[in-house]
Amino acid sequence: MFDYLIVGAGFAGSVLAERLASQQNKKVLIVDTRNHIGGNAYDHYNEDGILVHKYGPHIFHTNSRDVFEYLSLFTEWRRYEHRVLASVDGQLVPIPINLDTINKLYGLNLTAFEVEEFLASLAEPKDYIRTSEDVVVSKVGRELYEKFFRNYTRKQWGIDPSELDKSVTARVPTRTNRDDRYFTDTYQAMPLHGYTRMFDQMLTHPNINIMLNTDYREIQNIIPYKEMIYTGPVDGFFDYCYGKLPYRSLEFKHETLNEDVHQPQAVINYPNEHLYTRVTEFKYLTGQEHSKTSIVYEYPQAEGDPYYPVPRPENAELYKQYKALADAEPGVHFVGRLATYKYYNMDQVVAQALALYAQLADRPTWHPREDLPAKQPVTPISNGSNGSNGSNGSNGSNGNRSFTAASSNGSGRSATPVAAGKAEQNGKSH
Ligand SMILES: Cc1cc2nc3c(=O)[nH]c(=O)nc-3n(C[C@H](O)[C@H](O)[C@H](O)COP(=O)(O)OP(=O)(O)OC[C@H]3O[C@@H](n4cnc5c(N)ncnc54)[C@H](O)[C@@H]3O)c2cc1C
Repeated sequence: MFDYLIVGAGFAGSVLAERLASQQNKKVLIVDTRNHIGGNAYDHYNEDGILVHKYGPHIFHTNSRDVFEYLSLFTEWRRYEHRVLASVDGQLVPIPINLDTINKLYGLNLTAFEVEEFLASLAEPKDYIRTSEDVVVSKVGRELYEKFFRNYTRKQWGIDPSELDKSVTARVPTRTNRDDRYFTDTYQAMPLHGYTRMFDQMLTHPNINIMLNTDYREIQNIIPYKEMIYTGPVDGFFDYCYGKLPYRSLEFKHETLNEDVHQPQAVINYPNEHLYTRVTEFKYLTGQEHSKTSIVYEYPQAEGDPYYPVPRPENAELYKQYKALADAEPGVHFVGRLATYKYYNMDQVVAQALALYAQLADRPTWHPREDLPAKQPVTPISNGSNGSNGSNGSNGSNGNRSFTAASSNGSGRSATPVAAGKAEQNGKSH
């Protein structure tokens, strides 16, 4: 008899499996319909030996020290700060919009102070912000909205931003300085050997059994268990009794090119041209050295795997009905992005899973694993350090610390410290 049947081996399911097995000595069976662990964060070496993310680029960033330290039990990290360029008016310019974006686009030479005035002169303030269009136009005006946001959003969502809830672009980060990082979270890093290796480490425990290529429905009446943790689609759990919750999907077109470097930045957004929204070159993310390079195009579409819940009021209402059923379902815990019909970043899902674990285990927080070798000495270093050894005595108590990762792993890549940025929750989706 298993204590828990866990449906889904993504972040939500894997964190709970790991915690319950290692801390509570629970016997866990984790099942996934896919032929791999890791959920959407799954990465693998393709036939040319290049590490790629099967379901589109996954960049780890968080402001949560707890989440970062928890994941550090299972991986070393490589420093990585994400940067994106947008192809606009025949030029590649930084996005989020910053001082350089404006100067390049308009052939100007404004200072930070002047660009603030410039943006303010473009903005069209609105009394009431209802839609995504309102959010952007009120902040940067119609011209920049048309150049950067309107068509990108239309492609991404299949709906004009004027019909999309304001929550989709709740905040349009514009910077009057030259900071061209996509995220400003305190912790920004990529698992040194990739996500799948990290999941492997989490799920390697004698109390954890994994069944891949398996829908939980195939085994739920055959294999006995006490409670279920469900991370699949909530509407599917209830046989779509109120109808399907709408999702936006993506088709990923992977390519490997016979060149060392393909594009000048990890991601290029294409707001206005092409059917795809963006192109990612993986070597920027992974730091891998290889004579070839692999890229992925993302084509938004209505049908396919469920990726982005469509944030419209009627869908929120529909989800409420499913949530009422979920809340009343005995012995089943719904957690993760599909089970709660909400777009979450990876760190948010980890935090959600750790919170559920604390509830199940009646323990206030997560506890480190004593059985694991300290593969990742998490040592505070000061901001701006060159990260040589992180032994500068900073106590890291300001919540803005950065961490050294363990040293080289024999793969030829070495771990470097994670840069500290201004702690800021930007809630951006990917
Ligand atoms: C294109 C894209 C890019 C993203 N990029 C980023 C990023 O850069 N940074 C970031 O922080 N976040 C990113 N995210 C979000 C990230 O993917 C999620 O936060 C994370 O994967 C959620 O984990 P999860 O466990 O909730 O869901 P999932 O990873 O989806 O795991 C759920 C698992 O349940 C399985 N399952 C479903 N139904 C069943 C069933 N009936 N039986 C058995 N198994 C089942 C599924 O196969 C799946 O493997 C991105 C998401 C997308 C779509």
